[in-house]
Amino acid sequence: MTMVLRCRDLGMNCPKEIRAESEDELLKLAAEHAEKDHGLPATTIPPAIMAMVKAAIKNE
Ligand SMILES: [Zn+2]
Repeated sequence: MTMVLRCRDLGMNCPKEIRAESEDELLKLAAEHAEKDHGLPATTIPPAIMAMVKAAIKNE
């Protein structure tokens, strides 16, 4: 099973789709993408945003 997170689903104007085999891996890739492409330092993501991100993860 693959887990998918679409940046669009978080209200970002961004076509990025992040795919991974586990939630840990997906969150790591999402943090890297947020930092690199959205200028959001991964270390300061508030719990409320993290909860939104987790809720937006889809299984495929
Ligand atoms: Zn993005």
